[in-house]
Amino acid sequence: MVDSGTSSDPAAKSADNGRVRVLLPLALPGPLDYRVEGAVPAPGSFVRVPLGPRERIGVVWDALHDGGSAVAPEKLKSVIAVLDAPPMLAVTRRFVDWIARYTVSAPGAVLRMAMSVPAALEPETPITAYVAETGWCAPEGFRMTERRAQVLRFLAAGPPRTAADIRAETGAAAAVVAGLRDAGAVRAVALAPPSRFAPPDLAPTRLPLSPDQERAAARLRDQVARGDYSATVLDGVTGSGKTEVYFEAIAEALARGRQILVLLPEIVLSAQWLDRFESRFGAAPALWHSELGPAVRRHTWRAVAERGARVVVGARSALFLPFADLGLIVVDEEHDTSYKQEEGVFYNARDMAVLRGHLGGIPVLLVSATPSLETVVNVERGRYGRVHFPDRIGHAMLPEVTLVDLRQSPPERGRWLAPPLDAAVRETLAASEQVLLFLNRRGYAPLTLCRACGHRLQCPNCSAWLVEHRATDRLDCHHCGFALRLPPACPNCAVEGTWAACGPGVERVAEEVARYFPDARLRIMASDTMGGPAAARELITAVAEHRIDVLIGTQVIAKGHHFPLLTLVGVIDADLGLTGGDLRAAERTHQLLTQVSGRAGRGDRPGRVLLQTFMPEHPVMTALARGTRDEFLETEKRERERARMPPYGRLAAVIVSGPQQSEVDASARALGRVRPVGDGIEVLGPAPAAMSLLRGRHRRRFLVKAERGFDIQGAIRGWLALVRPGKGVRVQVDIDPMSFL
Ligand code: ADP
Ligand code: ZN
Repeated sequence: MVDSGTSSDPAAKSADNGRVRVLLPLALPGPLDYRVEGAVPAPGSFVRVPLGPRERIGVVWDALHDGGSAVAPEKLKSVIAVLDAPPMLAVTRRFVDWIARYTVSAPGAVLRMAMSVPAALEPETPITAYVAETGWCAPEGFRMTERRAQVLRFLAAGPPRTAADIRAETGAAAAVVAGLRDAGAVRAVALAPPSRFAPPDLAPTRLPLSPDQERAAARLRDQVARGDYSATVLDGVTGSGKTEVYFEAIAEALARGRQILVLLPEIVLSAQWLDRFESRFGAAPALWHSELGPAVRRHTWRAVAERGARVVVGARSALFLPFADLGLIVVDEEHDTSYKQEEGVFYNARDMAVLRGHLGGIPVLLVSATPSLETVVNVERGRYGRVHFPDRIGHAMLPEVTLVDLRQSPPERGRWLAPPLDAAVRETLAASEQVLLFLNRRGYAPLTLCRACGHRLQCPNCSAWLVEHRATDRLDCHHCGFALRLPPACPNCAVEGTWAACGPGVERVAEEVARYFPDARLRIMASDTMGGPAAARELITAVAEHRIDVLIGTQVIAKGHHFPLLTLVGVIDADLGLTGGDLRAAERTHQLLTQVSGRAGRGDRPGRVLLQTFMPEHPVMTALARGTRDEFLETEKRERERARMPPYGRLAAVIVSGPQQSEVDASARALGRVRPVGDGIEVLGPAPAAMSLLRGRHRRRFLVKAERGFDIQGAIRGWLALVRPGKGVRVQVDIDPMSFL
């Protein structure tokens, strides 16, 4: 998509008689009008404007059809300045507008995500360098010392050099250079700071592809070359070479000078992916995630806008970077729930990536071994293409999956590994191979109760139990960060020494492994025990180099990692995600356990997986044991279709929350009275949310169900406009909700 960058295009006109519309990154209903003196800035320009007593930075927005506000021009405040920053392209502005409409959010709230680095709107501090002045003649009284002459020879020979360069080469101190400058012999010039991003190598070393891979790669290269919108699902078992294939698409886009965005769900844990990228393309990509420091954020944002960063690998927020010429989007692990943002603007980055591809006219690749049902159905409806990779690369086979029926072979008292898993761990360690034990629960125990009175330790701010973490000797709320030292006496009955830890978390499994397999070198991997990216990389390397025998972890170990000697995966509680009545509980459990299982047997030695379950006849368990993913999806589809649930119907949640329960209830009731009724839409609620208290806010929920073609956003927007929420009450809309808490 080309942005004309001028205001001559009538559809993109933003100004009328010296008036512009400016969208501010605030939750206002729309852009505000400002007056401009002199040249009218083109749409997309970043401008500084007054708002109340403050100054704000906003973006000149397009005047589309509504004709702007009726405020008389002389009453308008004036734009203060136009910033010296690359303007926001039309495609990004349409993206912001579209997401605001789709998610029922204020456009400014979406803009805020696209302006997350305000500092980047100011030019970077230039670097001062020096060049020799040509044709300079030494003035009266100038003493040409040997040092000075040396500096002049050095500068005459080449490009501008910084004082540090000059010193390194000639030994001349800054004062020598200053003397030359005062005499007019050298001149200072401002240079843009160097890019941190080396250009990728376009003559890379690549693996010879298998015939399946080659066919897929040819198709993707072709799509990139055509440069139109398309959405293609790369669907293939773990280890089938999908990543290698989309690297080919990236190479094609690079060869065409375009930029590439790759979304990964756990960027901080992606050391292996990054190493692979670097060895393929000879340069590291630009990273975008929440742990970057401000200077790197600023540099990266600017480099993306100015094309210095060619490939960006990021979390969902990377979608909002100011790409100058995006030519390909890859969404790896497209089914992953971490793509859903559930605060502020509720959006699914996977879906918004497809939208971005649409708006920008570029191909989008959705990659997964377990595509979401939405994606599978989009393929069936012909909206997405599909490339299938049926087998693992080389000789690697998919692991054999066995169910351990916990009713028939329960663990010994006080243990969590049932005898079959215990035996398998023993055999694996004896063969000098590695074990992964998976339990999707952080900490030591999910619940602590008093044996004397039954009192349970609960978070004061949330409807949630406190989770014991022995490593840090605390009880934590996993929702709000509340933490507590375990009190000696029960606060309810005042009896001392009665606490009982109920159920296992990864720390408790680690305790068991340490006790029963004392020689095994074990480590825990969970989001709270990782430390930063460097520590995560260290741990992953240690596993890959076989300095660890047993790895115990939560879902952070499920994805992507390639450990050739890992031959046993044991799932401590395969049923964990199935409870709770969530629409996608079965689908998600199947995805997660497939991912975890996929860590086994990726090298030359065959792998096996033991799933401990109380429900061996559950469709998820039988599908995993038999490897019948497609049959499982068929059953899921039929059930969703019968219930008119997504993707066969539409859902939205409306969450009413606030610090005062009475206000929340009053607002929820008021909304309930004017709920939309009619054909094609049904509003359930208000009901207390499953998390009826979260971070100190009481929560009530509506669930909106609509038919597939129904304008659910329009109905909700109209509905919410009818009620003014009570004091401190917030009303949030979650279109296509993934979580029902
Ligand atoms: P997926 O993305 O489907 O999990 P990968 O692309 O990561 O699969 O490939 C799995 C493993 O096989 C990786 O270690 C990768 O380096 C290797 N691999 C992929 N393609 C080839 C190939 N054509 N030849 C040899 N090894 C390959
Ligand atoms: Zn809490």
